[in-house]
Amino acid sequence: MKKNKGFTLVELIVVLVILAILAAILIPTLTGYIQKARETVCQTQRKSLERYFKTMYVAEDEIRGAKDLLEIKAVLGGQDVLDYMVGQRYCEEKETVCPVYHVQYQMDFRLNASGQVEVEFACPCVKESVLGYVSLAEKIYGDKWASGEYKKGQGRDVLIKDLFNERGSLLEVSSSFTSGTVFEGKKLYWRPYWLSDGSMILYAGEDSGSGTNQWKANLVYADGVVYVSQAKSWSGAASPAGIAGIHASGSYDAADEWLRANNFGVK
Ligand SMILES: [Zn+2]
Repeated sequence: MKKNKGFTLVELIVVLVILAILAAILIPTLTGYIQKARETVCQTQRKSLERYFKTMYVAEDEIRGAKDLLEIKAVLGGQDVLDYMVGQRYCEEKETVCPVYHVQYQMDFRLNASGQVEVEFACPCVKESVLGYVSLAEKIYGDKWASGEYKKGQGRDVLIKDLFNERGSLLEVSSSFTSGTVFEGKKLYWRPYWLSDGSMILYAGEDSGSGTNQWKANLVYADGVVYVSQAKSWSGAASPAGIAGIHASGSYDAADEWLRANNFGVK
């Protein structure tokens, strides 16, 4: 007589194979849900930060009336605005970090013509904003430096390629940046470029690909300021200006000086 003492080896293998197939199907779906949930949390946090900022803007005597981010930074003696908001308990520290990419939010602020507060908080989740784009470029740059993939002396062309591959395209320059400049109506694309201290700036040219031989800029974006090339071609038409010499700039201030001295005007 044969006694059944439990599973045979074949049965056990069948069960394990079924479990493996289930895991292969379910895990990516679950990770997808978790990712989506984190993106929603990020969006909520950014909306909340806008509210907290507006509260702080009205409540703080020295800050109220400031017209842009530079003026607020001047009042705070160079302190980061988000750090200040955490210190003054307008928000929690964890609310200032994107839960998807684990980077602190970038911000931009200005008082519009009718005196209303316009503030934006962005991280790499924000695909169509220039701030989100800068944030993604900084994230890639930071990670690849930390892992040793980028090395000193290595060209900035690698970052252009990596950003291009991550997004599938370079960001098209919005007409708000070109309007009122000699490049109005042109299709331009932002390319990332880091200064020697790691600060991220963008320069815009007509090349939409990750091609690395183009180091000429129609526009440059650095710390919220847009610079326009004043260079002229032999026929007198506006043309892009080379940015090869800017790499030694160790900060936004140094870049500002270099750009003003090299045929760029502030928009
Ligand atoms: Zn985010």
